[in-house]
Amino acid sequence: MTATPATDAPLRLPPATLIQLSPDSWTAPFWEAAAAHRLVVPRCTSCAAFRFPPGPFCWRCQAQAIEWVERPGHGTVYSYTIVWHPILPDLADSVPYAPAVVELADTDDVRVVGAVTDAPAHAVEVGLAVELVWRDVRDRVSVPTWRPT
Ligand SMILES: [Zn+2]
Repeated sequence: MTATPATDAPLRLPPATLIQLSPDSWTAPFWEAAAAHRLVVPRCTSCAAFRFPPGPFCWRCQAQAIEWVERPGHGTVYSYTIVWHPILPDLADSVPYAPAVVELADTDDVRVVGAVTDAPAHAVEVGLAVELVWRDVRDRVSVPTWRPT
């Protein structure tokens, strides 16, 4: 049995081999921009509501058309958990890690999932101000992670 890391242990990240994307026509623009280290979110061209995750109809006005707009990648932790115990053998060297839901600034509360990094585990809390750091997991695949500002 593996000992639980201390709360001041630096946060780690899950291995890149476990990150698999399955983009579809609605999410491909997000991942294509991510590969270029650009954060984009879909916005309704009719009423300007942000629509994330993207879908065929606006939640506010039911229009279909969207445009992808770039955002700078600042936000606050809305929710998180800290994984202390590796539930898979491949995660043995990756704990603790902190998957989080981050509410983006300037988006009417769009929330994006990504791990918090560059901090000790005990530093993560709801409301923590974070900035985006792209993690390149393989060629043409980058995912958002978040570090405290
Ligand atoms: Zn709309």
